[in-house]
Amino acid sequence: MEKHMSVCPYCGTGCKFNLLVENEKVVGVEPLNGITNEGRLCLKGLYGYDFVNDTKILTPRLLHPMYRRSRDADFERISWDEAIKIAATKFSEIKSKYGPDAIMTTGSSRGCGNETNFVMQKFARAVIGTNNVDNCARVCHAPSVAGLAQTLGNGAMSNSIQEIGETDCLLIFGYNVADSHPVIARRVIEAKEKGAKVIVCDPRKIETARLADLYLPLKNGSNMALVNAFANVLITENLYDKSYVANHTEGFEEYKAIVSKYTPEYVADITGLDPDDIREAMRIYAAAPSATILWGMGVTQWTMGVDVVKGLSGLALLTGNLGRPHVGVGPVRGQNNVQGSCDLGVLPNVFPGYQPVTDAAIRAKFAKRWGVASLPDKVGAMVTDVPHLVEHGKLKGYYIMGEDPAQTDPDLTAVRKSLAGMEFVIVQDIFMTKTAMLADLVLPATSWGEHEGVFTAADRTFQRFYQAVPPKGECKHDWEIIAEIATAMGYPMHYQNTQEIWDELRELAPKFYGATYEKMEGLGYVQWPCYEVEDAHGAKYLYHGNKFERPSGKGLLYACEWHPPMDQTDSDFPMILCTVREVGHYSCRSMTGNCSALQTLADEPGFVTMNPKDAKRLGIKDRELVHVSSRRGKIITRAQITERTNEGAVYMTYQWWIGACNELTGENFDPTSKTPEYKYSAVKVEPIADQ
Ligand code: SF4
Repeated sequence: MEKHMSVCPYCGTGCKFNLLVENEKVVGVEPLNGITNEGRLCLKGLYGYDFVNDTKILTPRLLHPMYRRSRDADFERISWDEAIKIAATKFSEIKSKYGPDAIMTTGSSRGCGNETNFVMQKFARAVIGTNNVDNCARVCHAPSVAGLAQTLGNGAMSNSIQEIGETDCLLIFGYNVADSHPVIARRVIEAKEKGAKVIVCDPRKIETARLADLYLPLKNGSNMALVNAFANVLITENLYDKSYVANHTEGFEEYKAIVSKYTPEYVADITGLDPDDIREAMRIYAAAPSATILWGMGVTQWTMGVDVVKGLSGLALLTGNLGRPHVGVGPVRGQNNVQGSCDLGVLPNVFPGYQPVTDAAIRAKFAKRWGVASLPDKVGAMVTDVPHLVEHGKLKGYYIMGEDPAQTDPDLTAVRKSLAGMEFVIVQDIFMTKTAMLADLVLPATSWGEHEGVFTAADRTFQRFYQAVPPKGECKHDWEIIAEIATAMGYPMHYQNTQEIWDELRELAPKFYGATYEKMEGLGYVQWPCYEVEDAHGAKYLYHGNKFERPSGKGLLYACEWHPPMDQTDSDFPMILCTVREVGHYSCRSMTGNCSALQTLADEPGFVTMNPKDAKRLGIKDRELVHVSSRRGKIITRAQITERTNEGAVYMTYQWWIGACNELTGENFDPTSKTPEYKYSAVKVEPIADQ
């Protein structure tokens, strides 16, 4: 049996293990002592490997290029030469007819390495000539990136995953740790066992709420009001660190003026919380020698997502919980390389290493290295802009790599309409996803397990992963396919291996320069920023010496007025739908749905959970089929009745193919990050007669 070292392709914890291979098939995994997992793995890490083997449980692997000569025609198998020629010709035609900004591209955060993402953003900028490049962070943690960049200077976790077990207080806000990042949940238990206080803020009684010292079941949609009230308590009860605020922050007077009205009593109706509990939470948080705030999509997937992220960072600034070990702010990233996609400039406003596209000197540096006269200076489109841009005739071509917007993006009717409205759509993937079914050209890429590279874990940790088995069928590496299309479009792009790409990145992104392949060999790792090769592991935590990467060098205290969610319940749609995670399945389920053990454990991960009182009122029994409808669509799913769900709200995972909950979600976006308000859609739930 062969052993090949890898990094888990699922969540952003970055767990390391060996893939066990027999006769070119992955047959198991063996946990390793990686820096983030220290020998632990969860359900998905242990049993989520066999999709690589083309199990055909949910859908078969894509093995050769396929093309539809018209939208009414079936896909037919074509050669790689023909596929590359079609892609290059169609994109060249669209570019010359409508201009480069008529083409949109995506990177991929699911099993695609940093090198592939680097090549995709280079293709968009240097070959097409547009900053229209984005990734799925847009629909999850983009508010964390934007919010933290504004208040602290870096859009990432300030401290490290291994420090979570060492902190004295954990404020867990809108983050279902146990289902989203089970190995990080172990760190929470570790901290608790060592005496840490745990505060959980979540409308649903999630698993972590069971071990909380204080559980705050706030009403859906009241995050900003609660964060303002937290700040109010810290200030009015003199619990904040005055010296830290004076020396390392700015904006205090304006901040204090805004939060002054948000007393615990004032927000009691908005949040549904007892004012004494709000006060107690901040007394615990401020008294702890070290305190860490962790959050997930319960904070970000709102129209106030960026504001709440900024508000949470304000609590850490007020109490001096930054710039030292075991403290900080932790947006725990969902997909395994979503931090990497952002780091590598698969964003419409920055080059790799978070260097702005609007900076002429930065553009000149990249243009010189890439051998082009100039690079686009206008911030590009975001993936959630796509339906609107297509409707207005501004987007005509789409190159989608390893993403499945027809399953994962909000308002699927609008998404399907936008794909149909494009002149040419390429989907490059490992499975025939719902989006691939709507494409013109489908390109088969190698899967995780069949290629190598570097992933970034949620805490800025770069780790290498290695190829374990040969590519299936005619699959090619993503970066090779992109380079071949670039070359056919008249921009010669030739890389021999991923290290060549990585070294080009290091040369162009000073923050990553010290992260060499050699240092990351085997169980090696580097956390960015790492400016020097001599710096062994980079930065375990950010903001040493309380220097924030902002023009003033100080952290920004920020608060704003709360407003309710955009979609409103009424007598037709009286309940709130919130989309959530399920421990055994992942993203659009193309990977976990093709893993035999995971599929056996949960073959219908599309249930709608509801409170027993709501179920009784509506005449719905546990496991019965129900209709769920919103102002945008109607689906069929199965009810799961549980006390953990709060009254008036229902929760659905977004993995089920038949009744995808995103048929119901809407296009209400955060104004800065354009992240959808997945956490709040007005719906109606009805029993189905004659089941
Ligand atoms: Fe994989 Fe995340 Fe589980 Fe670790 S915690 S094994 S990275 S899914």
